[in-house]
Amino acid sequence: MYVVGSSATPVYLLDGPKPILFDAGLTAFTLQYEAGIKEILKTREPSYLFLTHSHFDHIGAASYFKKLWPELKIAGSEKCGEILAKPNAVKLMTDLNYEAARGIKEMCLGPVYESPFEPFELDVIVQPGQTMDISSGVSVSVINTPGHTWDFMAYYIPEQKILVASEAVATYESGGYLQPEFLVDFDAYLDSIQTIEKLDTDILCGGHHAVFTGADAAKHIRRSFNAANHYLSMAQKFLIQEKGDIDRAVAQIKAEEWDPRPWPKQPESAYLLNTWQRVNTISRRMNKPHE
Ligand SMILES: [Zn+2]
Repeated sequence: MYVVGSSATPVYLLDGPKPILFDAGLTAFTLQYEAGIKEILKTREPSYLFLTHSHFDHIGAASYFKKLWPELKIAGSEKCGEILAKPNAVKLMTDLNYEAARGIKEMCLGPVYESPFEPFELDVIVQPGQTMDISSGVSVSVINTPGHTWDFMAYYIPEQKILVASEAVATYESGGYLQPEFLVDFDAYLDSIQTIEKLDTDILCGGHHAVFTGADAAKHIRRSFNAANHYLSMAQKFLIQEKGDIDRAVAQIKAEEWDPRPWPKQPESAYLLNTWQRVNTISRRMNKPHE
C-alpha cells in the first residue's frame, strides 16, 4: 500500500496482480499522482479507482486517470454517481479545484497542473456490504459510512486488514489535533465510526495527512469517536451561549479550535465552511423535536 502525491491530499495505491487506486486527490496535483503511480507500476496499469466520496479534493484527477488508463474502472456509491452527474456540483468542484490550485501556486507547494477539473462518470456502482474479488488474495469490501457526506463509502481489504476510511474518521491535523469530519449528520457519523471499529484493521488510511498502523489504527478510530463527542459538547455549549446564532458559535469555535493551532493547517475559508456545516448539523440536531 502506497501513499502517492502529497500526504495532505493523497491517492492510495494498493499494488498487486491488479493494482487498485483509492481516491483521486486534487486536480492541481494530477502530475505528481501520475509520476508516483508510474514510479511504482512502471508499465503496468491500475485496474480500479475506488472513490470514498465526491468532494473536490478526493476526485480531482479521476478523469485524467481514465484518459491515461482507459481500462481503469472508476467505482463509487450510487449517490456519488448522482452528484457527479449534476452540472451545479461539477461547477462547484471545478471552482474549488481552481481555487486550490491558485493557493498551491501562491504557497509554492510544487508544480501545478493547470487544466481545470473535468467531469467523469462512474463505471461501477458499489453497493453497501458488497465484496468485490479483484485478484487472488485481494478483495474489496464496501462499507456504508455516511456522516461526512451522504455518498460516503469506506473500503476494506480483509486479506491485508487495510481500511481506507478517509474522512469517516477524524483528520489528524498539525499538532496532533483531531478534527471530527461530520458535515451532514452527527449520529450517522458516530454510527459509521462504530461500524468500522468492528473491523480488524492493521493499516488505517485517513483522508488527509496520516496513515495509522498496528495498535495506532484502532486507537485512532476510538479517538475519532471521542473527538466527535467532545466537539458536540463544545458546539452545543457555544450554540446555547449565542442563543442559536450559528455564525457567532462558529466564531467561538474557531477561536478555541483553529486559532491556536500551528501552521500548516486547513486554510481559513475551507475551515470556516466546514465548521459552519458541522455547527449547522448540531443546531438541527438540538432543534429536532423529541418524541
Ligand atoms: Zn470530504
